[in-house]
Amino acid sequence: MERYMIIVAGGSGKRMGSDVPKQFLPINGKPILMRTIERIKQYDNNMSIIIVLPEDHIPYWQLLCREYNFDVPCIIAHGGKERFYSVKNALTHVPEECWVGVHDGVRPFVSNETLDKLFEASETNYAVIPAIAPYESIRMDTGDSNSIIDRNIVKLIQTPQIFHSSLLKKAYSTDYKTMFTDDASVVEQVMGNKIKLVEGNRENIKITTTFDLMMAEVIYENYKF
Ligand code: C5P
Repeated sequence: MERYMIIVAGGSGKRMGSDVPKQFLPINGKPILMRTIERIKQYDNNMSIIIVLPEDHIPYWQLLCREYNFDVPCIIAHGGKERFYSVKNALTHVPEECWVGVHDGVRPFVSNETLDKLFEASETNYAVIPAIAPYESIRMDTGDSNSIIDRNIVKLIQTPQIFHSSLLKKAYSTDYKTMFTDDASVVEQVMGNKIKLVEGNRENIKITTTFDLMMAEVIYENYKF
């Protein structure tokens, strides 16, 4: 079956404290989003790529593409108010019978091994996502009190998250809820599907703050994917 990857970069990235959304900031001299797209294409050059951009930043992206001679073919969809709406817009470009991944544009370091595990598991599961175990102790804080949680039963969830396209499209026909922080949460809530977890890779960080950007430079210099 054909494979599509939706790469969401439709946010304005204010947590980075910069005027330029974080997905356009450079790692080792090249915008994060280009590095994310290239990582996916290095893994599977036949994968169709859909990128979601804030509508008012599309001309800036086109300028960057010219500046960096970036010519990977990408379908461009418009970003929405929430990540949910950005994915929903991109899904209009995806056919019914294919595998579709949804990946954060600010995660340029997903490994070949993680991608292999995701696509292998997708042969027998309609919803597969990467997860890693936390190293820290975990506590639940309800304001009045707090209590330890067994960290062995908690996972940190990454992207790309892989789905059968007809399942994801049906799930996204629902109304937005604030608890929809990723795609698995939409599929689970709306369709009731079980979500299959596979082991992610720790370098696959979501670049969110200036600290993450510093870490990203180190990861870029030191790891082969
Ligand atoms: O800001 P957040 O952590 O939700 O961002 C995760 C990913 O989703 C980022 O790549 C961001 O650009 C994207 N996003 C989006 N549309 C939004 C908000 C975030 O595509 N409205």
